[in-house]
Amino acid sequence: MSRRKSRSTGAVFGIDLGTTYSCLATVNTAGAPEVVPLLDGSLTLPSVVLFLGADDCMTGEPARAQSRSRPDDVCSLVKRRMGDGDWRFVSHGRSWSAPAVSSLILKALVNDTAFHAPGQVQDVVITVPAYFGDEERRATKLAGEYAGLTVLDVISEPIAAALAYGFARLDPGLVKGPSEEVALVYDLGGGTFDVTVVELAERRVAVVAIDGDHELGGADWDEKLAVHLSHAFTAAHPDAEDPLDDSAGSQALVLAAERAKRELSEKTSTVVRVEHDGHTVDVPLRRDDLERLTGGLLDRTVQLTRSAVAAARERGLGRIDRVLLVGGASRMPAVAARLTKELGVTAELADPDLAVAKGAAVYGEKKAIERLVHADLTTRGQLADGAPLDAASAADFDAACARLAEALGLTTERVRRTAQVQVLNVCSRGFGVMALSGRTGEPEAVFLVHRNDRLPVAVRRSFGTVHDDQQVVTVRIVEQGGGAESEHLDDNKVVAEASIIDIPPGYPAGSEISIGLRMGFDGILELHAWHEGLADKPLTVHVETSAALSQTDVARERAQVARVRRRDS
Ligand code: AMP
Repeated sequence: MSRRKSRSTGAVFGIDLGTTYSCLATVNTAGAPEVVPLLDGSLTLPSVVLFLGADDCMTGEPARAQSRSRPDDVCSLVKRRMGDGDWRFVSHGRSWSAPAVSSLILKALVNDTAFHAPGQVQDVVITVPAYFGDEERRATKLAGEYAGLTVLDVISEPIAAALAYGFARLDPGLVKGPSEEVALVYDLGGGTFDVTVVELAERRVAVVAIDGDHELGGADWDEKLAVHLSHAFTAAHPDAEDPLDDSAGSQALVLAAERAKRELSEKTSTVVRVEHDGHTVDVPLRRDDLERLTGGLLDRTVQLTRSAVAAARERGLGRIDRVLLVGGASRMPAVAARLTKELGVTAELADPDLAVAKGAAVYGEKKAIERLVHADLTTRGQLADGAPLDAASAADFDAACARLAEALGLTTERVRRTAQVQVLNVCSRGFGVMALSGRTGEPEAVFLVHRNDRLPVAVRRSFGTVHDDQQVVTVRIVEQGGGAESEHLDDNKVVAEASIIDIPPGYPAGSEISIGLRMGFDGILELHAWHEGLADKPLTVHVETSAALSQTDVARERAQVARVRRRDS
């Protein structure tokens, strides 16, 4: 294996920070995205951390191997905790938030790929499930910052998967099909499920509709199989202890179940040996058995797929031209068979483990190229600092692309397409504010931004003050909790509480307060407020997100992460 030549684009690497595995990719000198191998040659790192002491940890495969036998010290599936501000993993007298644990995974990933990409990994794009809300995206950015990385952007995993596919199609030599296509990306990972309808066009990759469940993934298939194996074991040895009642036994069982699940993707039957409590049983298992045991889980993914397709139809896209399967667990043959039947289009297994990281690298290259074109135009005075690229004249833009193409050894067309392609996302959940109902006088959620609204989105809505001379208005921002919007507080998650302060005296009850919610391309939320008497002057808003760590916590954790020594060999 040869050392990778560094590209002169000021490379931006793509990272798939997965629930079970993580992976780092870049765009090679030939312009193709590729995964950077780890020291041992593998392409993915298990997203698992084993805490050995206050300042010592192990990551990756050695940590994963001990995940059930040392549950107090092993942290896995941390991605499911992203955005939960109260969650901490406590081990050896230290407490770790989800971003802090994730940062150890990121550091390990960067460290282990250093042989192939020495000293280059600084600017990165990290992927998140499409349904991650504002808090989870912020937490992901924070994880990158803790790891010492510059996170240029956080993008949705299905967009990344579509980019890995869509950009290749935009390469002039590779365009074969129609220039516009609607793809459904079905992503069944280890711990999360995401379904997204994406429109691929000449200069645009746009998410049209999303749905998903972050508590559903391959690990649920393993659990079902493990329960089946434990029943088979206890039926054969009624006096023996149930392996699931013992941490080492259940670890072994779940690992055996996962292995069997993978084998059943390749062949139609296998035999699983269960050894526990001095007894052994060989359990024959057919693919049909697995499919029967886990049918309910697959049904749930199909239901969510239907709802994404229905949402896309509402937005005028009534057809699905392609079905792309990503995520390791979509290798199960039942997935492709069921989706093909459901959607009437042959489901394609599109590089399921690596597509997301590769797509993030493609997007990273786009960011790098955009940055260079931008810098070229601003230094020549052809574009104002901070202005978007499309504010430059077409001639100046083309000339900048040509200069850059020359410098990078790429075609001008490729640089232009890469810089021009727009990635458009939609909002993953509804957002609103709690207000007193005019009807009942009770607090109710009023949604301003809705799931599947195209990003960026900016919405303003008017509310009234409750008292005369009211100086302070407290606004609670809520995020849709379940699959549908609900006006009940309990069905929603309060993500931030903001106080509008210093409202001048002299205004009666019912004076207009206008609340604006804005969500950028990155899915991160901003709140603005105006008072009717001071329309030109936004009011001061203090936003305290419930999941955000305090400044003190962030400083403490940053230092804690920096102190950690890794002992993996
Ligand atoms: P990901 O989060 O995309 O890395 O997916 C990891 C999940 O894919 C885990 O639950 C794995 O057990 C599962 N997986 C990987 N390979 C296979 C396979 N050949 N058949 C079935 N599931 C698999």
